[in-house]
Amino acid sequence: MANLPRKDLFDLPEGVIYLDGNSLGPLPRHVPARVAEVLRAEWGQELIRAWNSCGWMDQPARVGNRVARLIGAPEGSVVMGDTLSIKVFQALSAALDMRPDRRVILSDSGNFPTDLYMAEGLVSLKSAGYELRLAEPEAVEAAIDEHVAAVMLTEVDYRSGRRHDMTAITRAAQAAGAVMIWDLAHSAGAMEVDLAGSNCEFAVGCTYKYLNGGPGAPAFIYVRPDLADKAKPALSGWLGHDAPFAFELGYRPAPGIERMRVGTPPVVQMSALEAALDVWDGVEMAEIRAASVALCEQFIAEAEAACPALRLVSPREAARRGSQVSFAFEHGYAAMQALIARGVIGDFRAPDVMRFGFMPLYLDEGDVSAAVAILADILDNRAWDRPEYRQASRVT
Ligand SMILES: *Cc1c(COP(=O)(O)O)cnc(C)c1O
Repeated sequence: MANLPRKDLFDLPEGVIYLDGNSLGPLPRHVPARVAEVLRAEWGQELIRAWNSCGWMDQPARVGNRVARLIGAPEGSVVMGDTLSIKVFQALSAALDMRPDRRVILSDSGNFPTDLYMAEGLVSLKSAGYELRLAEPEAVEAAIDEHVAAVMLTEVDYRSGRRHDMTAITRAAQAAGAVMIWDLAHSAGAMEVDLAGSNCEFAVGCTYKYLNGGPGAPAFIYVRPDLADKAKPALSGWLGHDAPFAFELGYRPAPGIERMRVGTPPVVQMSALEAALDVWDGVEMAEIRAASVALCEQFIAEAEAACPALRLVSPREAARRGSQVSFAFEHGYAAMQALIARGVIGDFRAPDVMRFGFMPLYLDEGDVSAAVAILADILDNRAWDRPEYRQASRVT
């Protein structure tokens, strides 16, 4: 890969091997200067004029177009704002509205809890008869029937890295008359996504994971272009109005994807994201995916050879995996704390999963081998077996 990695573009601490870009991507080196400029030159000097003069009002659509390129979506089909939980709610509500004679939201037990919680909340707001139905991930396609209004799934499982077949499941959902919503939280920036080719109606995702937008970076929502003028926004905020500055008393949705905006965008945070997206200039997702598969394969092979106590939780077949590798280990939490203390940063998901994310923009083969050597040393010497490593923090 002539083009990768691009470690110099990131401000990683000395001595750290960062295997948690699937949870919070690292800081691209040029972002602080850009954020400082937004604060001082734009907010500080332009004041309210900056909404026009610095393009703040257009930023959600402008940044949406840059994200669109990375997820196989056409120009004008993606807009930024809010958090992923909110975007899940919006997509789901619009999907239910498109199938008024149906009452079931179908998801799977591998989905990230907030997606399910938001669905529960939406169900509780609707009239009686609506329900959230869960299937096992392997059985979800077979569970799609004529009662299902919307199928809502996350392409890559946050614990195991297991990957759904987007195209096949979308086809099955649509054949049964259901609307398809994909959550790309662990896909965007990690691998090729062909949103247009999948034909799904809605997609959502966050930008602080593989897209390195920083903690609290705004989420994105995609609506298939032929539906963008029809989708009904449940969160009918003024910036999704056709004419926000007409200050009409009634809501009229804006044409196209703009209607999925809600209120005032987080300009400073979105500027960090906008700048962070520069690291993708000249990079093709196919190249990222090939390098990511190579790093994951190397990690699995070396870790299994050197650490017999670990049990692979991720699918062995690369095509069925996202860009992370998970191993189960009885003392996984303590072992992860010991690893972090030695500069190898991954994370832990209950009950016993040690999670390692691989991002070829700033990781190479040498990092993988060094991480495995430290992991093996910790396991061989039971270095995890210390009281301070068993102390659970609020964020794991
Ligand atoms: C990370 C993640 C979220 C987080 O939602 P926020 O609203 O950004 O906190 C939601 N869903 C999935 C599938 C995720 O992986």
